[in-house]
Amino acid sequence: MKHLILGNGPAGVVAAETLRRAAPQDEIVLVGNEDSPPYSRMAIPYLLEENIDEKGTWLRKAPGHFEQLRIRELRGRAVALDTEKQRMLFFDGHFEDYDRLLIATGSHPVRPPIPGVDLPEVQTCWTLEDARAIAAHAKPGARVLQLGAGFIGCIIMEALAKRGVELTVVEMGDRMVPRMMTPKAGGMIKEWVENKGVKVVTSAGVNRIDCGAGSPLTVSLSTGAKIDCDLVIVAAGVAPNVAFLEGTGVHVAKGVLVDDHLETSVKGIYAAGDVAEAPDVFTGAHLVAAIQPNAADQARVAALNMAGRDNCLNGVLAINVLDTLGLISTSFGQWWGEAADKGGEGVEHVDEMRSRYLSLQFKDDVLIGATSIGLTEHVGALRGLIHGQVKLGKWKERLLETPLQFVDAYVATSQPMALAR
Ligand SMILES: Cc1cc2nc3c(=O)[nH]c(=O)nc-3n(C[C@H](O)[C@H](O)[C@H](O)COP(=O)(O)OP(=O)(O)OC[C@H]3O[C@@H](n4cnc5c(N)ncnc54)[C@H](O)[C@@H]3O)c2cc1C
Repeated sequence: MKHLILGNGPAGVVAAETLRRAAPQDEIVLVGNEDSPPYSRMAIPYLLEENIDEKGTWLRKAPGHFEQLRIRELRGRAVALDTEKQRMLFFDGHFEDYDRLLIATGSHPVRPPIPGVDLPEVQTCWTLEDARAIAAHAKPGARVLQLGAGFIGCIIMEALAKRGVELTVVEMGDRMVPRMMTPKAGGMIKEWVENKGVKVVTSAGVNRIDCGAGSPLTVSLSTGAKIDCDLVIVAAGVAPNVAFLEGTGVHVAKGVLVDDHLETSVKGIYAAGDVAEAPDVFTGAHLVAAIQPNAADQARVAALNMAGRDNCLNGVLAINVLDTLGLISTSFGQWWGEAADKGGEGVEHVDEMRSRYLSLQFKDDVLIGATSIGLTEHVGALRGLIHGQVKLGKWKERLLETPLQFVDAYVATSQPMALAR
């Protein structure tokens, strides 16, 4: 049996290793299309902060790791899939056949169609190559404009601040991280970063980027403002790497659609990680949950099924944990809540003095979503209650009155022995 794994990020690597354990005799080919050993994108901010070097981003550091596991590494870009003949065409013209295929190609940053977005001083922050280019431009005192204050934008902000740049963030939404945080939480994060010296412009778009007269770039905003800068970093969303699936029977929506066994609409072809859209824990609706732990979980399940074991993913839970210049925020599940006529009810606890915040969202007596700021120690309990779809019974009313009691609710409802003592 030959397994072809497309993509050598966290999903591809975990899948290859899981397959080797589950199917010791099978042939495994692991394909990456970047000019570096398998690495973790989430380590890029630490590289930019100069806490680690490039080797520190590598997913496996032991020399000969993949060779010893008899995992053949291949560099190449997949361009077309033939599901009838079970083979993949690569950019260099060669074909690779397979019995089982895993699509773990992740996603790529989108550059919005803005005049000037392809100028050399306009960078995305996604690959090691991007990181090298940013490091070359983002020197102490450099003026950097970051387009977008979403998940990736907030994560890289700390690295940029530590490099001593003068940072301006422009966000189309009315708050920071608008697709992951409630209006109040997004506003509190904005206030926090502004107090740390970052300029934040919300409800504004970038209309164009020009080569400036006295500085490398001039950025024109929809507000009419013009900002001179040395570097623009585009962090305005991502799209899945699926071009090679065009014309095949593999169904794609926001990502490659998979079932709870991570199998796609074509038998024998699986998908995992940022490229996959898997059923979510509450509704079964498909969801891209683009964080590294999800990529690893999905890869394990996919690989076991590819090896002939029957393994099921217990629903994806959207989880985001952000460290924005030292302020830790999280959002879980359906953080925006549910309509009242469908059993939805919610509560907010706001403590601006201590930069603490909690929003709990219920459907009937089940916690379906939460947003938190500054509650670093016990967020595991929030995740446990939500992922476990725990029936809270009388605890729901208590939480509506005193939301911070969620740890007690978790102990009482998820660990009945503790309650009995
Ligand atoms: C700056 C940054 C910070 C982040 N921080 C965090 C964090 O703090 N916590 C967290 O959980 N997540 C974080 N993430 C997200 C995390 O990195 C992703 O969720 C994770 O990398 C997904 O793994 P993956 O294997 O699915 O995809 P990827 O890591 O993107 O790997 C996909 C691989 O497929 C290859 N590929 C793509 N197309 C083709 C093709 N046509 N042919 C062959 N190969 C191809 C690519 O080269 C790549 O090697 C961060 C991401 C970035 C960019």
